[in-house]
Amino acid sequence: MQTNHDEYGPERILEVYDPKTKMHGVLVVHNTARGPGKGGIRLVPDITTEEVMGLAQAMTWKNALADIPFGGAKAGIKADPKTCNKIAVMRAFASKVSQLVPSVYIAGPDMNTTEKEMAAFADEIGDLKASTGKPSVIGGLPHELGSTGFGVALSTKVALEHAKISISGATVALEGFGNVGTFAMKHLEEMGAKVVAISDSKGTAYVAGGMDYNKAMETKSSKGTITAYPGAKVLPAADLFTTQADILIPGARPNVITAQNVSSIKAKVVIEAANIPMTHDMERQLAKRGVLVIPDFVANAGGVISSYCEHIGATPSQMFTIVKDKVTANTSLVLSHTKDLNTRDAALKIAKERVREAMDVRGW
Ligand code: NAD
Repeated sequence: MQTNHDEYGPERILEVYDPKTKMHGVLVVHNTARGPGKGGIRLVPDITTEEVMGLAQAMTWKNALADIPFGGAKAGIKADPKTCNKIAVMRAFASKVSQLVPSVYIAGPDMNTTEKEMAAFADEIGDLKASTGKPSVIGGLPHELGSTGFGVALSTKVALEHAKISISGATVALEGFGNVGTFAMKHLEEMGAKVVAISDSKGTAYVAGGMDYNKAMETKSSKGTITAYPGAKVLPAADLFTTQADILIPGARPNVITAQNVSSIKAKVVIEAANIPMTHDMERQLAKRGVLVIPDFVANAGGVISSYCEHIGATPSQMFTIVKDKVTANTSLVLSHTKDLNTRDAALKIAKERVREAMDVRGW
């Protein structure tokens, strides 16, 4: 028996193998008290059951806190994304887990799986409700609508109101200018904030007077990097985190705020748009210094809420309304339950209570 079982789960761990494609996969359904387990399928060469268990548990809390009727699950396929036939492997995985889909498990994209693999998964199961993140021609709500970045901007707005900082003119340093970063900037600019620094893999572009969203998008598409932004001072990518700005948004890679830079962070509010941009210990260190941190599973929930909208057949405009209502309400709720700036503990407590309540009414 694994040691990381607790009163919530995991309910099922299914390891599957298909000799024809040599597909080796694992599906972990952590908890289904609030609804079918929902979580993406990650395709990487070094996935382990332990890792998938941790990710499935995190999805239970994320979906519960997002207040959508899904439990938590995650799947992993052990394969090299560069050499394997992803569609064949995905179909083989779908066929091996088909009995659980969509009543116990609903798939979604994750590392190295896209809308094409989600379409193949649903097609193999024979039910479009088998997965989310499908192409729009078959009822998907694409990533390109920018639900996560929109949610990040809304969560930032609520955090600033709580910290009594006016969003109008508040300065922002933004790590990453991909799907999440670009949409976060678009909506923050509309709310009146001023993005003064943006980083990508090539470095950080800094403009003290603030950058313009349209100009930033034009720079990214024509020059391939934000560091070519006209008139920007170009700094190393790592300098983004210690930039003088009211708000810091880590929005690209994991573990970027570390023991080495945590004490140099100048922002008063940190919004975790990326997953796990720092350890809980780093979050506590920032809280001790009076910095308000909005944890990843609160701030970047726009994506899972959009998945739920796709599942119920919502239109893009209905999806934006639902994301707005839920992210705003959930961020406010977390902040109203936060003691000593310990936002993660407050958020986890709310999520666990929601799951416990569903388990109780089911008599589990
Ligand atoms: P993306 O691939 O679209 O963009 C990633 C960006 O990070 C790119 O602009 C890239 O240039 C930049 N980057 C790469 N290396 C960098 C470096 N060293 N320094 C600074 N920037 C660097 O990815 P995304 O979809 O925007 O996701 C970003 C993060 O948000 C990830 O942690 C992801 O797990 C998380 N997330 C995304 C969603 C979503 O819906 N897209 C939902 C929840 C969480």
